[in-house]
Amino acid sequence: MSRYRLEPTREQAGILLRHCSDARYVWNLCVEQQGEWRPGRGKMPGFAERCRQLTGARADNPWLADGSVTVQQQAIKDHAQAMASFFAGTHQRPTWRKAGRHEGFRVVAVKPGDVRRLNRNHAEVKIPKAGWVRFRWSRPVPPDVKSFRVTRDRAGRWHVAFAVIPDPVPGPGTGETVGIDRGVKVSAALSTGEMLTVPGLAGPEAARLLRLQRKLARAKRGSDRRRDVKAQVARMKVRETSRRKDWTEKTSTGIARRFDVIRVEDLDIRGMTRSAKGTIEAPGKNVAAKAGLNREIAKSGWGALVKRLEDKAPGRVQKVPAAYTSQRCSACGHVARENRESQAVFLCTACGYACNADVNAARVIAAGHAVNARGGDAVRRPVNREPQLALLAS
Ligand SMILES: [Zn+2]
Repeated sequence: MSRYRLEPTREQAGILLRHCSDARYVWNLCVEQQGEWRPGRGKMPGFAERCRQLTGARADNPWLADGSVTVQQQAIKDHAQAMASFFAGTHQRPTWRKAGRHEGFRVVAVKPGDVRRLNRNHAEVKIPKAGWVRFRWSRPVPPDVKSFRVTRDRAGRWHVAFAVIPDPVPGPGTGETVGIDRGVKVSAALSTGEMLTVPGLAGPEAARLLRLQRKLARAKRGSDRRRDVKAQVARMKVRETSRRKDWTEKTSTGIARRFDVIRVEDLDIRGMTRSAKGTIEAPGKNVAAKAGLNREIAKSGWGALVKRLEDKAPGRVQKVPAAYTSQRCSACGHVARENRESQAVFLCTACGYACNADVNAARVIAAGHAVNARGGDAVRRPVNREPQLALLAS
């Protein structure tokens, strides 16, 4: 995904905002409908059914009909895709979009002539109802653009991102295998011993953000000062997000290129992020601590990294069961709770092997082995089972 700064005129910006609010409206309707659905109430409406509902709604509501049907339909499709990602376990359940925070819409079926270069630094893209909108030519637009997404960040800047399905990144062809343990302290530990960390806001920047957030809390509602501080906070958040995205792209490409088989822990991110609050009957324990952990999980972008690895290394990413990876010795296979000397250090009580705990876990994951659904593991697995993974160690 390559992102460019969009420079709409004031009039065009109004039209784009209208598209954003339409997309948000339709998206939120889908979320609401999804939330009301209960098993036994018949089939959940799919994309086609929802498009029919949209046609009906447009006939009844002139203001809705006034918006772009392409943008509105695409919001339904985006929601359907988000639900699919939720079921696949790579993303959280789609939630409400809020005005000013999640502003964006997608345009599909882009034709080759819909993007054209103007001069050295500028090009323009055709957007429904808005016509040709200029954007900064910061790097070449990839050929064969299939769709694009227009977004407005919290600092009020517009961007356009052109989507092309990434070409698979070829592996080295040596059978080289890597295990990746996704942690909180370190974003990812590789079985090679490498530690990868998502670059967030570093020391002075993090301190500045905290100061700004305190300032914001003290500023009077509706004041100029508050607006200024809010814009500064928004800019820092945008910086943090773009660094994380950049890291995800570079890291996934690097790993896909260096290794043929990529094994990751099959963590239920959804379960981990969901459980914090608990229910009224069974309130969660350590809610504050877990909420903090959840923020870290979201920040380190586990789901995003695995998703990109699967895009770039299709069929080469294997998920290994998460049980015991933190307690198993990667040298001798001994499993014991006592093996974990501390959060950071692994020390095997059977063979004395000592290692960074995350790297040890990554090595256990690397040794995990996938059982093919069709072939089965020749030794003891029956044929035609669901894809399963077993650990080789011990
Ligand atoms: Zn051992």
